[in-house]
Parts: sequence; structure tokens; C-alpha cells
Amino acid sequence: MDLFEHQAKELFAEYGIPVPRGVVAHTVEEARAAAEQLTGRVVVKAQVKTGGRGKAGGVKVADDAADAEQKATQILGMDIKGHTVHKVLIEEASAIAEEYYFSFLLDRANRTFLAICSAAGGMDIEEVAHSAPEKVAKIPVSPLDGVDRARAREIAEAGGLPVAALDGAAELIEKLWAAFVDEDASLVEVNPMILSADGQVKALDGKVTLDDNAVFRQSDHVAFEDKDAEDPLEAAAKAKDLNYVKLDGSVGIIGNGAGLVMSTLDVVAYAGEAFPGQPKPANFLDIGGGASAEVMAAGLEIIISDPSVKSIFVNVFGGITACDAVANGIVSAFQLLESRGEAVSRPLVVRLDGNNAELGRQILADAKLSGVELVDTMDDAAKRAAELAAVGA
Ligand code: GDP
Ligand code: MN
Repeated sequence: MDLFEHQAKELFAEYGIPVPRGVVAHTVEEARAAAEQLTGRVVVKAQVKTGGRGKAGGVKVADDAADAEQKATQILGMDIKGHTVHKVLIEEASAIAEEYYFSFLLDRANRTFLAICSAAGGMDIEEVAHSAPEKVAKIPVSPLDGVDRARAREIAEAGGLPVAALDGAAELIEKLWAAFVDEDASLVEVNPMILSADGQVKALDGKVTLDDNAVFRQSDHVAFEDKDAEDPLEAAAKAKDLNYVKLDGSVGIIGNGAGLVMSTLDVVAYAGEAFPGQPKPANFLDIGGGASAEVMAAGLEIIISDPSVKSIFVNVFGGITACDAVANGIVSAFQLLESRGEAVSRPLVVRLDGNNAELGRQILADAKLSGVELVDTMDDAAKRAAELAAVGA
């Protein structure tokens, strides 16, 4: 989950990282009141989960409350890279002497954490990284050693920060590492990290990505969820504890095991290329190892509530949960949904393989569920599901 800038800064503040005072405003009136409360010059900042707000005109300095109201009028409702601005952060303006870049992130390719630091921060960091990569220090951080004050100072020095900023930057970096680890983040980015005219090092922007898989031990992260922006199908799936991701195609997918589901998406997308409209997967849905009737019903229910789904592909490889149990699960799921008046009205292609596959197929054949077809191989089943989606479209 990505956080809004104002949320990232709230988190930073909890770890003692200096951030400007600020207030979130959803309306022009709230923006004016916030600016009056803060007094003096303020910055009006679009709160959208995308970068480059400054260049898009989503970050504006205002001289006083009336000017802040004016700037908020311009920014609220603005579209920044497909994100509509529904709220702004009103912050006391900072007198910037210099802008630096700093981040900690998970470097998956090299199986380590990485600190990235540069004295050439601000809005053009991507350009700097491209044209003058030597100005951007990339330093691996071992999770066993972590980052103490001395290490933080070395990183700041490697990034080319001036002596005047080293103490402040080292303190900020050490605290940011604590936030990164304690909050189970996969990214904490501060761009710009500034040296102010009065010699303070502060986080002027904040980007944080939290690991959703850690929410079981980070219960307060739930408060960061952006309910308004969440896909309603994903929200419904989450409420049922399903691993579901909405995609933009028309073939509903159910499988057991994330790896199998991922390859099912690929196979369906490939098979779809041969049919009119080139049907693609409508979702990712992993019902996991124990594919009980309840889980199968919950999964089917989510998929049939998606109006863009024209056909459904159930791809199961029987392991510990054998195919006969899965087949019985499908049969009970059909009955369960029918009894609730939500009968599965779209064609369903089932491929069962692995443990007790024969028995599973027999159970499904005997049940004679309407619209259900059994196909032996994954490739053929993907083709059939894509074909049915193309016909149904
Ligand atoms: P981004 O473009 O989405 O990364 O938004 P930022 O929060 O990084 O803001 C973009 C730029 O606006 C910064 O690099 C600063 O140059 C400028 N800016 C942001 N806050 C202030 C401020 O308090 N005072 C001044 N003078 N400039 C600011
Ligand atoms: Mn920024």
C-alpha cells in the first residue's frame, strides 16, 4: 500500500523526523482556514499517489490565507497523471537552501536493502540518475547491521552532501531507517530532503510503501487505507479473505496456488490473442491450498459479480487438497449460490489435474452443472475459456 504524502509525514513525525507543520484540507474553505491557522506563507500541495506533482502544477506557494484559497481552488479537482485531487496538504512554507534526495528500499534483484542518497535532489532526480549516475550513491544495507548514526553519516557523505548538512542528515537517515524497519515498509523516500536557510535538515516530501502482507502485525496500518479509491470488487474480496486482484479483461480466473494462477493469467492472455476482441484475464484469484466449498463459493461469487466477466476458468492442480474435494467444492458452491439466488450464469471451464484428477472429473461430469465444461489440459482449457469470452462479449 502506498501512502499519501500527508500520511507519510505523519509517520515520519512519529519517528522524530522533522517535517513542516501542516493540515489536510478537502475543500477550498478548509484550505483557507488551515492557512489562517498556520499563518504566513504556506505551500498548497495536491495529495495524489503519484510523483511529479510539482511539475504538473500541483504544488504552489501562497503568500497568505487568501492566496492559499486561490491556489487550492486551482489544485482541488485537478487531474495529475489520471489521479483526481480530492485533498490538499497546507503546510508552512520552508525557506530552502538546498534540496537532496534520500530513500531506503528493498532491492529485490540483489536481495538486500538499499540506501540511495544524492546532493542533487528535487524534482529532477530521475534525470540526474540518468545523465550523471555518479551523483547518486547507491549503498547496500544489510538487515543484520542496520543503520546507526555513524553509518547514516557515511551514507550522507557518499551522496555528496555538504558538511553543513551532515549532522542533520545523519539524524534524519537514522530515524528513517527505524521507520522503514519498524513499519515493514518496502520504500521510504524523501525528495526533497532539504537544508533550510536556518541550517535544519527536514523532510519536505514523503513517499512510503507499506508491505500489505505485514498488516497482521501492523494493525494500525488499516487506518491508512484509502477506502474511496479501493476497487469495490477488491474490497469485497478482501472482506472474504480472498487473494483477489481486479484486472481489465473478460475471463474470470480461479486457481489454487499463486504460481499456478500467475501462469494461468499468461496462458489465457496468450490464448486470447487468437480470438476476436482478444479476451484477457479479468482477475487474479488464488483460493489457496484448501479449496473448500465455502472458499470456492466465495470466489465464484466475487467473479460473477464482475459485469465484465464473460467466461470463467477454474484451473486446479490437486495436491494435499485432492481434485475430488475441489470438484465437490464446485458442486456445493453452485448449489450454495443457486440457493441464494445468485446462480452462476456464465460458462465455466474446469481443468482438474494432479491428485485424484479422475475422480474429480467424474464427480463434475455426474453433477451435470449447466454451463460447466471439463477440459483436460491447461492450454486447451485456456483456449476454450477465451473462445467463450469472445463469443459472450
Ligand atoms: P513532487 O513534485 O510530487 O515530488 O512534490 P514535492 O513535494 O517534492 O514538491 C516539489 C517541489 O516544490 C520541491 O522540490 C520544492 O522545490 C518545492 N517546494 C515544496 N515545498 C516547498 C516549500 O515549503 N517552499 C519552497 N520554496 N518550495 C517548496
Ligand atoms: Mn518530491
